[in-house]
Parts: sequence; structure tokens; C-alpha cells
Amino acid sequence: MQSLTQRAKPVDRSPMTWLEKIYLWNIFKGMLITFRHFFKKRATIQYPEQKRPFSPVFRGLHILNRDEQGRENCTACGLCAVACPAEAITMEAAERLPGEEHLYREEKYAARYEINMLRCIFCGLCEEACPKDAIYLSETFAPANYSRKSFIYGKPDLLIPDPVKHPEEYAKAKGELDKKKSKP
Ligand code: SF4
Ligand code: SF4
Repeated sequence: MQSLTQRAKPVDRSPMTWLEKIYLWNIFKGMLITFRHFFKKRATIQYPEQKRPFSPVFRGLHILNRDEQGRENCTACGLCAVACPAEAITMEAAERLPGEEHLYREEKYAARYEINMLRCIFCGLCEEACPKDAIYLSETFAPANYSRKSFIYGKPDLLIPDPVKHPEEYAKAKGELDKKKSKP
């Protein structure tokens, strides 16, 4: 049969020698390969104690942003949901009531905002479509879980910590966003 490439090697079917029959030589060769790896740079790291630096284009879990007064930026315009190629985003809009100005920056807000992380392909189009600086993809992973339901992230999972009530957590999350935004 004609070979399509020149890479095929014919199998050696000659009878085994005495040395080959006792396999010691092959075991020794195998051990030598293992031994050589002791002196090579390790390809693995001790995760989660050690972490690899993220690529500048890494896109992880979403964050719903607040302004510096702790008000939610999202105005439930739905542009992110329309832009999402995986149809992973669902939301319900609500009107801001008098007295809720300290909670929501705009007159309309997302009473319910959900992202199905099993559908999401982390393309970042929702972030690009948002006119209100309200959604970002952070540098965090979606943690592993056993149930499908736990991969539907609601507002409590997505909202950045309140800068007024939890300044430290907010600064940490915001620092991560600012770092990401400053990348090319
Ligand atoms: S990152 Fe892409 S797939 Fe995921 S929610 Fe945003 S637009 Fe949809
Ligand atoms: S996250 Fe942005 S694009 Fe999506 S509904 Fe809110 S304001 Fe609109």
C-alpha cells in the first residue's frame, strides 16, 4: 500500500535477543528517562497556592459594577443580552421608586439579572455592548460545582461589593477591574 506520508515506520518483527527477553534493558531506559526529568524545570505548579499570571486577554467571571456611591450602574437596557451570542443573559427591568436613588444610578434598573455560566463562552461582547460601564469580565474563574442550577449566577453573585458598606472588598474587586481595563 502506498504511504501518504514518509513518517510510517515498519514494525521490526525479528526474534528477540536474550537481553530483550529479560526486559531489564528497557526498564533501565525507562528509569533513565524518569531520572532525567528530576533535573528539568517542572511543567506543573502547586495550584491553588501558586497561580500562573493571566494572559492580557483573559476573560473570567462577570462583575456588575457600581459607582463610587454604591449605586448599581445597570439600567436594564438589555443591550448585553442582545449582544450575547450564547443567549446566556436574562433580566427583568424595574422602575426606580422615589427614595431609591441611593440604590440605583438610573431611573430603570435590573430587578433580576442572571447569567447562565454553562452557556457563556466568555467572549466579552456583553462588556463591549454595555453603554453604562455596568458589566465587566474579571480575572476570576467560575468555581466547579455539581449542579446545573448553581451555574446560573444572579445579581447577588455578580454585583461588585458596595464601596460604602464594604470598602475593602470593593477596593480589591475594583483594583482587579482597573488592572484589566488598563491592559491593551
Ligand atoms: S461573555 Fe459572551 S457569552 Fe458570556 S454572557 Fe457575555 S456576551 Fe454572553
Ligand atoms: S449591563 Fe449594561 S448593557 Fe446590560 S442591561 Fe445593564 S446597562 Fe444595559
